[in-house]
Amino acid sequence: MIRAVKGTHDILPDEIGLWQMVEASARSLFGRYGYREIRTPVFEETQLFARGIGGETDIVSKEMYTFEDRMDKEGRSNSLTLRPEATAGVVRAVIENHLHQTDPALKVFAIGPMFRAENVQKGRYRQFHQVDVEAFGVADPSIDVEIIEMAVSYLEACGLAGSTLLLNSVGDSECRPAYTEKLRAALRKEASRLCGDCQRRIETNPLRVLDCKVPEDQEIIEGLPRIADSLCGPCEAHFAEVRRELDLLGIAYRQSHRLVRGLDYYTRTTFEVVSGALGSQNSVLGGGRYDGLVKDLDGPDLTGIGFALGMERLVMLLEGGRAAPRCDAYLAVLASAGRDKALLLQRELRRSGFATLMDYAGHGLKSQMKRADKLGARLVLLLGDDELSKGVWTVRDMASSNQQAVDDARVIEHVKEKLHG
Ligand code: ATP
Ligand code: MG
Repeated sequence: MIRAVKGTHDILPDEIGLWQMVEASARSLFGRYGYREIRTPVFEETQLFARGIGGETDIVSKEMYTFEDRMDKEGRSNSLTLRPEATAGVVRAVIENHLHQTDPALKVFAIGPMFRAENVQKGRYRQFHQVDVEAFGVADPSIDVEIIEMAVSYLEACGLAGSTLLLNSVGDSECRPAYTEKLRAALRKEASRLCGDCQRRIETNPLRVLDCKVPEDQEIIEGLPRIADSLCGPCEAHFAEVRRELDLLGIAYRQSHRLVRGLDYYTRTTFEVVSGALGSQNSVLGGGRYDGLVKDLDGPDLTGIGFALGMERLVMLLEGGRAAPRCDAYLAVLASAGRDKALLLQRELRRSGFATLMDYAGHGLKSQMKRADKLGARLVLLLGDDELSKGVWTVRDMASSNQQAVDDARVIEHVKEKLHG
């Protein structure tokens, strides 16, 4: 038997209700903030991610699905990669299509699958899905707060409770290099007590040490210099305004000096929503400002801020009933000669906007009633030999168990009265 590839999963009809709700909430809520949907390809040239995400990140260094394209007629081929995240592709599309010229405060969102060669665990897959939000061209801290407030409202709209918003500033190209050096110097003193990964990071990317989850390293990390104490004047002012406006809007957050995000292009504001209920895969969404990214990818000097939410993790946190197929009226046809009449009625009912189902296998009354009940049908339209000869349908209201005979010509109208009236 062929099984789904490890780290991928089916989203089955029973589960789809939550997924559709989460997607519908995104479209409806984000629209109220001026966001429009964008859909970009699931694969791009490898160099887009290598440059846009940064070689030292987990994503680029070990998680990308990269493959050589088929050769063209000249015998050349390209290195392609399945997108591990959405931002780089969205930025490429913005630059390529000059979207920033049509709207100085461009807001877009994307929903779709991402691919990372990860160690598969609960809440960590190799094909997973993200809701991704990006806003370009606004440098003001008010947009940072607006996007954070939208993320929080979105989780609320989806019915998520009990999550925590974490906030930090990672400075910018003015102040971060000095902080990085300060951190590196402090880390060198502790090097022998750190895990192997962190020892390597001291030279390659010391900020990543702050992300380390190895228990033995935690105490050392807590004692390291904090970036908040090294911000330059403009970054400090930006961060203060973000916090002031969050307070103004009554949005609770916890400052976390260790929140540096995995990606190199982040500047100033970073944020994350975590939920204790997820265990070690506790991050529901993460985001921040990336003022240098668009220019780094050969675009205009355009500021940006965004977040990405993991849909599997959100759905895991939501209580969801099974989504049964919708059924307004169930047609129970017992007269073998009644099939044609039922097919015609079914078509008319569906055209009138009703969800109907019927049994094509000729099961008995008892079994068909049981199925109608299980489907949650509000009405059952019964056609036996008796009904057929009299030119009527027996209409049973499943809630009240009342039934009455209704003339063929009046059935549609009767169903409308029952279900709409
Ligand atoms: P983590 O620290 O859990 O690896 P990350 O920093 O790699 O997360 P991002 O790249 O910021 O995560 O992606 C944003 C969100 O996408 C995460 O908060 C998480 O909800 C989700 N996510 C990331 N990787 C996976 C994965 N392999 N499977 C399922 N969801 C994922
Ligand atoms: Mg990761």
